[in-house]
Amino acid sequence: MQGDREIRLDISVEAAPVLEARGIRLEDIRGVIGFANETGNLYVHRTSGRCLAYFTPSTATYWVEFDRDGDSYRIYTAYSHRMEILHGFNMEAKRKETAEWTCMKCDRPLELATVKLKYMEETFGVDIPACPVCQRIFVSEQDATEKMALAEKMLEDK
Ligand SMILES: [Zn+2]
Repeated sequence: MQGDREIRLDISVEAAPVLEARGIRLEDIRGVIGFANETGNLYVHRTSGRCLAYFTPSTATYWVEFDRDGDSYRIYTAYSHRMEILHGFNMEAKRKETAEWTCMKCDRPLELATVKLKYMEETFGVDIPACPVCQRIFVSEQDATEKMALAEKMLEDK
């Protein structure tokens, strides 16, 4: 098996300052890609073909949007949140329309679902996309960097 350290990254010029501002290190990105390769847990965008994967090595969950170019991985963006994703929710699709992303492992488009997140002993129900089969959820860059970041901040200030 390929070790995480051997994963070659090609960080786009647009992504580099964003990653730095968010405090996301190369080893965090390698951890996500290594985990996606190992488990097959990843989402694929329907039109662009880009992949999105996440990994929770400790208290933070890291998300990386990338595609593979030969031996190296081109990184478009990455973000993180500290809110914990509670898996095994009782999922109910809210609407028929599905997200732009497909769960590669289950070969199913994501659907909106009510899922539970937890942070500092508080639990929330939020409507975000998830895979109707494996129930893994999807946190968009906007949700992580705006909504979740704001909620984390509010709870920390309480
Ligand atoms: Zn799935």
